[in-house]
Amino acid sequence: MTEDKLLYTGKAKNVYQAENDDEVLIVYKDQATALNGKKKEILPGKGVLDCQISQIVFNYLIENGIKTHLVKNLSDHEQLVKKTQVFPLEVVLRNITSGSLVRKFQIEEGQKLKEPIIEFYYKSDALDDPVINQSQIHALGIADNEDIEYIKQETLKINQLLIPFFAKADFDLVDFKLEFGKYNGEIILVDEFSPDNCRIWNKNDHHSMDKDVFRKHEGNLVETYQTVLQRLQDK
Ligand code: 5GP
Repeated sequence: MTEDKLLYTGKAKNVYQAENDDEVLIVYKDQATALNGKKKEILPGKGVLDCQISQIVFNYLIENGIKTHLVKNLSDHEQLVKKTQVFPLEVVLRNITSGSLVRKFQIEEGQKLKEPIIEFYYKSDALDDPVINQSQIHALGIADNEDIEYIKQETLKINQLLIPFFAKADFDLVDFKLEFGKYNGEIILVDEFSPDNCRIWNKNDHHSMDKDVFRKHEGNLVETYQTVLQRLQDK
């Protein structure tokens, strides 16, 4: 792997061109960020944990019929994935009130929602990932209505698979963020699924076992992610 093959450097991962033109290599970093990059720390071991947890979750989704970009893990912190045209969208699904929903509507945290909420955000660090609606996504040419509907259905399906998956390891799946891309005309799940992009709470004490421990200075992120990995492996 050489530096001249670097395609993209993100807050938590670097992306390199792989040998095959239609594949890329994702290298997970030990960096934790919050507040759109304003809070930043190097936490040794974090990259390996994110990569391993994401591999377990993606493999489970693949076994259950979800199409994803994952080809294989090359090491404990590197993944070979399909090169897609990524929609510049963050798709957030919420089962339980928390985070920005609680701040926006000044509601109590920890309430089970009558049904899952799906929200879209336009991916832009410069603009702080603004909320975007389906009409704007379509009118601005970001995705057509058929693609948006497919993404919503796939997100709901993933939620139905992941709620019991995390429950078996004694976690409540509060919310999560997904990203999708197009590969050969087909929409597939990309990016990662780790405690960096979801909220999971211990079923018994509702303690956060995700990046909120870093965002809110509530505990040791690496130890928390180690516990998550262990419980997912043991379940
Ligand atoms: P909230 O809108 O409450 O801040 O976040 C909802 C969910 O989406 C949380 O699980 C959070 O971790 C995830 N999420 C929201 N924005 C981002 C983002 O820019 N990056 C990552 N990795 N996750 C995000």
